[in-house]
Amino acid sequence: MEQTFIMIKPDGVQRGLVSEIMGRFEKKGFFMKGLKLQSVERSFAEKHYADLSSKPFFSGLVDYIISGPVVAMIWEGKNVVTTCRKIIGATNPSDAAPGTIRGDFAVEIGRNVVHGSDSVESARKEIALWFPEAPIN
Ligand code: ATP
Repeated sequence: MEQTFIMIKPDGVQRGLVSEIMGRFEKKGFFMKGLKLQSVERSFAEKHYADLSSKPFFSGLVDYIISGPVVAMIWEGKNVVTTCRKIIGATNPSDAAPGTIRGDFAVEIGRNVVHGSDSVESARKEIALWFPEAPIN
């Protein structure tokens, strides 16, 4: 069954949005297959966002991700990668539709509360990076 990697970013954790965000995926009908609260090292955040290393906002993005603990999760279900991206909403919260997580809870692109893998292939890589231990069946 398809899996995706979802991360509640430090602002989402600090603002007390963890259960609200998890509830959206749970109520949709997806299954949680991994969950941990984790503080990440700079080198780990750089690895997670390696594809964006040439972007001008890269160092600010890394500073943001290491500014506090994040909640790392694996979610499973039919078309879970694409559907979770829709539930999360557009990258820039100003473009995110009401009813999406970013549309409802974020204002700034640099504080957009949650990450979701953008393809099945990135999900596979991100799950291997964040959950190197044996997955839950
Ligand atoms: P994510 O990977 O976090 O799910 P995304 O796939 O919607 O986001 P990407 O283009 O991969 O969007 O950007 C990764 C993250 O980098 C964004 O979620 C946002 O936090 C940050 N980001 C993207 N563009 C900008 C920007 N112009 N200024 C500041 N931060 C940005």
